[in-house]
Amino acid sequence: MPHDHADHPHALLPPDPALRVKALETILTRKGLIDPAALDEIIDTYQNKIGPQNGARVVAKAWTDPNFRQALLQDADPVLAELGYYGRQGEHMVVVENTAMLHNMVVCTLCSCYPWPLLGIPPGWYKSDAYRARVVREPRGVLADFGVSLPVESAVRVWDSTAEVRYMVLPMRPEGTEDMDEAALAALVSRDAMIGTALVAAPKHSPGADA
Ligand code: FE
Repeated sequence: MPHDHADHPHALLPPDPALRVKALETILTRKGLIDPAALDEIIDTYQNKIGPQNGARVVAKAWTDPNFRQALLQDADPVLAELGYYGRQGEHMVVVENTAMLHNMVVCTLCSCYPWPLLGIPPGWYKSDAYRARVVREPRGVLADFGVSLPVESAVRVWDSTAEVRYMVLPMRPEGTEDMDEAALAALVSRDAMIGTALVAAPKHSPGADA
């Protein structure tokens, strides 16, 4: 059985980055600069209460409501604020739409800017040097690594997030979803599809259909 210290609840010494965080947290707490309970609350909020399910709801609504979709693509902030999706790391949002001719991908080449209110905490790979450097130079290679191959005629556009602007991808609605309601549609939408490293697959539910 593999022994993973990072996941071991009773590990005496955390691995290096965690150790540094712990040390910083201890010093800042002793100096009265932070409240550990408040920190835990913030992390819990972004890890458990806010997550890609928020973005997925927005995508499903855009797929089913043409007026909402148009408003979202034109000026996302007021539309998202109305749904309660705003705040820290999501101050100015731009939603970019995938079509049969254009596939969008999101990166932060400088660090790890990411739309927290819609997608929660960024995945580890999003923050990696490899993704950040490579997605700009060879987006199709990165897509291939994620198991995505696009038709040759489809262009790929990469959006570089900054502290000022965060992007979210509105993926294409798959075929065979005409009868699905918003909640069922939202369940199809993955985090990666809203970053642009995945497509939304058609559901495999019809009896007798090839699965
Ligand atoms: Fe950044």
